[in-house]
Amino acid sequence: LALRRQRGRLLAEVADKTKALEELARTDALTGLANRRVFDTTLEQLIAQGKPSALLLIDVDHFKRYNDALGHHAGDLCLTEVAMLLRRCIRGDADLAARLGGEEFALLLPGADAQAARAAAQRVMTAFTTRALSHPDSPVATHVTASIGYAVTDPKDDATALYRRTDAALYRAKANGRARAVEAAAERDGEV
Ligand code: GH3
Ligand code: MG
Ligand code: MG
Repeated sequence: LALRRQRGRLLAEVADKTKALEELARTDALTGLANRRVFDTTLEQLIAQGKPSALLLIDVDHFKRYNDALGHHAGDLCLTEVAMLLRRCIRGDADLAARLGGEEFALLLPGADAQAARAAAQRVMTAFTTRALSHPDSPVATHVTASIGYAVTDPKDDATALYRRTDAALYRAKANGRARAVEAAAERDGEV
């Protein structure tokens, strides 16, 4: 009986550890958000299901200057704050906030239409303004800002096409002065 009990405890321990490891493999170590792998697979699934969804790509502005001014550790803390702020910008249980790498983040909103995507982008912009993390060397504001490209899925899009035109919108947000959100053009218009 003692042996059986011990075996039960060991199995439970292995199950717990396996679950913890699976969670780690899904998580960005610095911020605790979902990582790029989770983002990629979730996006692929949504596209495969043909589920209308919105994608927001969010890149912190002049983050290199932030690190240079305050140090890499402060930079890490800033990214953690950005992650918390983004987590507060999502609504539905299925919504995903992910860190794609560096100072680049994404929100994936299953079931969101253009209006919902626009509203989410606005929430993110407002969240950065309200949080107002001091940025001592940004040419665009006294606080940390971000640029956003966003899009809703088009039935013609595969995951790569959607990502590409959203990224093109982000690029335009940067080029147009940063600290702003730009909606992606429809598939062909996005190709320049
Ligand atoms: P832009 O407005 O054009 O986006 O300028 P930027 O400086 O934000 O972009 P750039 O790609 O030139 O620099 C990104 C910086 O982010 C450089 C890199 O050192 C820093 N960075 C990337 N990952 C991390 C991280 O995990 N921690 C810290 N502290 N810095 C990071
Ligand atoms: Mg940046
Ligand atoms: Mg970047």
